[in-house]
Amino acid sequence: MSTAEMPIAGSYDILVVGAGPAGSSAARAAAQKGATVLMVDRRQRIGLPVQCAEFVPQAISRYVGFSSKCIAQTVETMITHLPDQRSYEMKSPGFMLDRSLFDKELAASAVLSGAKISTGTRAVEFSPEGLVIERGGKHESVRARVIIGADGVRSSVAQWAGLPPGRTTIALQYEVVLPHPQNHVDIYFRKDYEGAYAWFFPKGKTANVGIGVIPQRTPLLPNLMEGFLNRLVDLKKMGRIEVIGKTGGAIPCEKPGQTVFGNIMLAGDAAGHAHPITGAGILNAVLGGKMAGRIAAESLAKGDLNHLCQYEMEWREAFGASLSYGAFKRDSLEENWNKSDIDFESLIRKTWVGFKEYYKDRRKSGLKP
Ligand SMILES: Cc1cc2nc3c(=O)[nH]c(=O)nc-3n(C[C@H](O)[C@H](O)[C@H](O)COP(=O)(O)OP(=O)(O)OC[C@H]3O[C@@H](n4cnc5c(N)ncnc54)[C@H](O)[C@@H]3O)c2cc1C
Repeated sequence: MSTAEMPIAGSYDILVVGAGPAGSSAARAAAQKGATVLMVDRRQRIGLPVQCAEFVPQAISRYVGFSSKCIAQTVETMITHLPDQRSYEMKSPGFMLDRSLFDKELAASAVLSGAKISTGTRAVEFSPEGLVIERGGKHESVRARVIIGADGVRSSVAQWAGLPPGRTTIALQYEVVLPHPQNHVDIYFRKDYEGAYAWFFPKGKTANVGIGVIPQRTPLLPNLMEGFLNRLVDLKKMGRIEVIGKTGGAIPCEKPGQTVFGNIMLAGDAAGHAHPITGAGILNAVLGGKMAGRIAAESLAKGDLNHLCQYEMEWREAFGASLSYGAFKRDSLEENWNKSDIDFESLIRKTWVGFKEYYKDRRKSGLKP
């Protein structure tokens, strides 16, 4: 039976929109607590296309199970390169994921825990008792007592909950052939990469090469990428430029806000849970998604939707302070980036996680990084 033929309309305890790391983690946690769960994703194939640089801290394996096949390689350190040619290395044990496989495994775990999944299925609007979904050109109503919006950056569910579009950076990324193996990630700052940075992340025989900027600079990205690739050749990172893939997308970079609205919860990028400075969002998507799914199921078991607010408290406790501190640093970064009287290198040292100066304003901000 094809996806379009499988009946999904009906009534569920929880409807999860989006089968990325946040949605699959939420669906799994809720199903494990005995809730009936439907997870829908507009993509025909979970995890594809990949729109990610695929780096996660190794600590992620404490919170989510995935097979070693999802790891393209391990990474030991991060080297930050400043425009004055100086470089700084810090420990940064990480995994370079095969993100498409990772997302697929997480979705499979949700299904194995009892959740139902429907791909090629887009949530299109609210209905009085749930959502209207569209698949195979047809609209259907799905009833649900709780809706978890895990539909990524520019989330429709967040919009239906009344939120304005969140602040983002925009990134362009190429996958290139990597002639020499390397076990660190490189980060490059330049005034041209306004409000963000460029990266070179090794993945075995290939590398993810990307540049992020504030949205107003998006049209510059192709030229910036050309210049960056040429510089990488000059730096002997690669012998010649061989591009085997192109991707990109928006990354949330805002101060985290409200995530529970009546019976609606937001998780992952839909909740703006990526780090405002680094753009890393996979770990928080997994953590937040797990909390959202568990708490949604608990609320239904108690018959008390007020309990959903526990989610807001738990994610703030787990990673809210680090996001707020990152947002505080981002404000300073964007405000001072083009000021002629500001020393650019000092600004980066104060606003990038690879320098100890980043952590120094804790007391002033009243936040912890
Ligand atoms: C270029 C780039 C590089 C990045 N690099 C990194 C990195 O190296 N490390 C890191 O930690 N983070 C990185 N990120 C951020 C990371 O990719 C996200 O934070 C992460 O994917 C968030 O997971 P999620 O589950 O919230 O959302 P997503 O992974 O975006 O999943 C959302 C899902 O919702 C589906 N969907 C959307 N709308 C609907 C709808 N209406 N109906 C049904 N389904 C819908 C989408 O198809 C998608 O599958 C990067 C992002 C970009 C753009």
